[in-house]
Amino acid sequence: MRRTADVVIVGGGIIGASIAYHLTKKGVRDVLVLERDRLGSGSTGKNAGGIRLQFSSEINVRLSQRSLPHIERFADEIGADPHFHQVGYLFLITEDRDVAPFERSLAMWSKLGIPARRVTAAEAKALFPQARTDDVRFGTFCAKDGYADPSSMMNGYVARAREAGATFVEGAEVTEVTCGNGRVAGVRSKGGSPAHLRHRTRRGARCGLPADDRIRDRPLRTPRIRWCTARDGRPEREAGLR
Ligand SMILES: Cc1cc2nc3c(=O)[nH]c(=O)nc-3n(C[C@H](O)[C@H](O)[C@H](O)COP(=O)(O)OP(=O)(O)OC[C@H]3O[C@@H](n4cnc5c(N)ncnc54)[C@H](O)[C@@H]3O)c2cc1C
Repeated sequence: MRRTADVVIVGGGIIGASIAYHLTKKGVRDVLVLERDRLGSGSTGKNAGGIRLQFSSEINVRLSQRSLPHIERFADEIGADPHFHQVGYLFLITEDRDVAPFERSLAMWSKLGIPARRVTAAEAKALFPQARTDDVRFGTFCAKDGYADPSSMMNGYVARAREAGATFVEGAEVTEVTCGNGRVAGVRSKGGSPAHLRHRTRRGARCGLPADDRIRDRPLRTPRIRWCTARDGRPEREAGLR
């Protein structure tokens, strides 16, 4: 049995899951996400979950300005706890070579309305008493920054997208994007039953797969990671991702 889809997304990380969610939210029902391994097995399952406005390039700052409000209301909109801890990011500048770039960043952040501020070594010590600050020239701190759990966020997107009709398939590596008449006509995948994964259409991007390759009801497994952060001035260890 074959299946076609209106939209095929290659890669089941947080971006693919987010696109699937947002498409279904806009009314696109037949969305298919093909993941070569397990959902979240790429960078999404390995990253530290840092979320910050304090970037050195303006485009990254602007992207974070767009995404931060969404993350702040993620639980309400998606119905999944992103475990977002808005504890702030503190950068400590100790080297001469970093002074000018951070001064430029502070000016750019100010221009863009980022609530990051310059802090003295003493203020940095007060924010994070465990830090050695005797060689600190100055620091930058933004209380809006923090960290979240990327796997929880991805799983939230996946759950909502599935409810709205999207299909996620694991073990389906896309090996070729097929084209015809100047359009994307489908994809080939070597996962599942390979012969069934090539499809054609007259318009737009379509793709197909055997119905028994669907994993709609299978639980997600994502890699567990560890990282250290500080909260209320005390080191905090987050062991594993939910
Ligand atoms: C060690 C580390 C730390 C990080 N820390 C942070 C951080 O603190 N804050 C932050 O914002 N970002 C961080 N990042 C970056 C962040 O993880 C990525 O920006 C984000 O996960 C990208 O999501 P994605 O869905 O695009 O990619 P991925 O999660 O990598 O998903 C892409 C998916 O595509 C699949 N795929 C690839 N090719 C094919 C194919 N041909 N067919 C089918 N599937 C395919 C892969 O298997 C993978 O699952 C970190 C990254 C790493 C590695």
